[in-house]
Amino acid sequence: MKDNYNRNISYLRISVTDRCNLRCTYCMPAEGIDLIKHSQLLTFEEIVDFTRTAVSMGINKVRLTGGEPLVRHGIVDLVKMLWNIEGIKDLSLTTNAVLLKEYALPLKEAGLQRLNISLDTLDKERFAKIARRDKLDDVLAGIDEAIKVGFKQIKLNCVIEKNKNEHDAVAVANYAKEKGLQARYIRTMNLEKGEFWIVDGGDGGNCSICNRIRLSSCGKVLPCLFSDLGYSIREYGNKEAILQTLEHKPKKGSISKNNEFYTVGG
Ligand code: SAM
Ligand code: SF4
Repeated sequence: MKDNYNRNISYLRISVTDRCNLRCTYCMPAEGIDLIKHSQLLTFEEIVDFTRTAVSMGINKVRLTGGEPLVRHGIVDLVKMLWNIEGIKDLSLTTNAVLLKEYALPLKEAGLQRLNISLDTLDKERFAKIARRDKLDDVLAGIDEAIKVGFKQIKLNCVIEKNKNEHDAVAVANYAKEKGLQARYIRTMNLEKGEFWIVDGGDGGNCSICNRIRLSSCGKVLPCLFSDLGYSIREYGNKEAILQTLEHKPKKGSISKNNEFYTVGG
């Protein structure tokens, strides 16, 4: 399916929860967030139904994100249900890996193909400072398990302040090399100020070739992370919400006062 600027839209990112077991300084306040009400959170049936419609209209690549997707109960079942949809060629998930040691194998068996794992530093104290939780050991154990079960691809997402020569970024690059993984660097963005950058080693942030739409955990289809436009699937229905999204996808991102990385998944 095409948007108004003739961009081919084939990639859907689904945020399955706004909850998280970390509190990264660039993403969430220390005290946590006002969580969306349980009744607002999309059910698995709603997510699968929506995805089926999206796939029938041209989506073939799906990524699960959050919040932290692995804290959503039944995430493995959701992966299984999505992988059963004919027409999905690529199913992936973005995680902080805190719970990955337990979930890597079931996720792989359920059909998940690729993983993006967030890793900003290899220093235990720096990790605890950035994520406000002392969980680096769990993350590293999760990464090892993911390598062991043999995902098709594992990328490390490293958030950096300005450039990838920073000490933490270099350490992540060396670690990635040693483990045979790909590292990509994401410069800290600010949705409210409209500060966003092209992701090094990825295609995010390049508006002219953007192929994405997003489904938020409370059921809004969003044409752009850097815009406040959104169309509720409960209000519009799946197909109309997608059509509105295509119609209004901006040529270029600007600012967003409503979106947060933890509700729409980065
Ligand atoms: N909890 C999972 C994780 O951290 O991988 C998935 C959701 S998280 C919101 C998705 C991505 O957004 C992560 O790679 C994270 O580093 C990135 N992110 C969050 N806040 C950001 C910000 N202010 N600027 C740039 N990237 C950000
Ligand atoms: Fe949680 Fe991911 Fe946000 Fe960190 S970046 S607080 S792990 S949602």
